[in-house]
Amino acid sequence: KADGKNKVLLYKKLVETGKYIQSERLKEDTKSALENGELSLAFQPVFEASGSQMVGTEALLRWHHPEIGHVSPELFIGMMEESGTIHEVGKWVLSEGLKQLSKWHALGHRQLSMSVNFSKKQLFHKEDFLKHLDKELKKNRVPVKNFVIEITESEVSYYDNDLMLFIKDLQQRGVRVALDDFGKGTASLHGLRKLPVDIVKIDRSFMESIPHENFNASLLIGIYSLLKQLGIEVVTEGVENKEQLAFISRESNSSMQGYYFSKPLHARLITEHLTGHSEI
Ligand code: C2E
Ligand code: CA
Ligand code: CA
Ligand code: CA
Repeated sequence: KADGKNKVLLYKKLVETGKYIQSERLKEDTKSALENGELSLAFQPVFEASGSQMVGTEALLRWHHPEIGHVSPELFIGMMEESGTIHEVGKWVLSEGLKQLSKWHALGHRQLSMSVNFSKKQLFHKEDFLKHLDKELKKNRVPVKNFVIEITESEVSYYDNDLMLFIKDLQQRGVRVALDDFGKGTASLHGLRKLPVDIVKIDRSFMESIPHENFNASLLIGIYSLLKQLGIEVVTEGVENKEQLAFISRESNSSMQGYYFSKPLHARLITEHLTGHSEI
């Protein structure tokens, strides 16, 4: 694992030092990753406010490169966006995510929801994406409201008409929309009032100073209160310890996601947990 990390760092360095041939090569490789079966999904559990029950998972892409092994999504998602591959890959993530969700529902865990990430670049092919979504929703018999599409806050602007229409297109189908990484850049409290999202996911940078910094704690309490007034569901990301869990439980109704509960896992491990064969 450490070895994989070093390789990712090496590639990051190559990119930074301008050795574009190497990074161009990796980018080129993203184009065949899907058909070569090098992509997979990991699922990170989301827990409800008291932290005792799993209410859903987020599907996260994994790429095992034949030569360099695990490549971080932080690195390859951007490459897929640039090469346009993200469109086909995004559709695949949607299909796989829904298929997995319907398996868990078939096992009786009908409270579970599934989130997939959506890159704004995918808007270029939005009609095709929506057609694919309709087909997959028909094929996998799960309540549509249990399916969530996450869009990153920094990519969202209230003035972006295309994106606003797309969000409405999703919501008309009953799919819920989450605003991801909220507050990572400049959290726009004002924008929140106008954004038609169902869920806000609070970026894990907030957790770094909880519960030790009063200012951030107050800010977070304010955000929770505003979201509650707006009737928007909340997920707090990056929960890594008991103190953070206690803070969130005390101050909000927020669901939680983070290493304290579980890292992203292979679907099989989640199924084992659900069927009582293992702890997460
Ligand atoms: P994200 O959507 O914000 O996903 C959460 C990331 O935070 C994941 O990183 C997860 O492993 C990590 N994480 C979860 N809990 C903790 C914690 O307690 N502490 C810390 N330090 N980290 C935590 P990952 O899997 O490396 O993914 C990175 C990003 O890549 C994602 O951030 C998302 O923006 C993007 N990504 C992943 N899969 C997809 C995909 O299918 N499509 C698109 N467009 N983007 C994706
Ligand atoms: Ca996400
Ligand atoms: Ca996030
Ligand atoms: Ca992100």
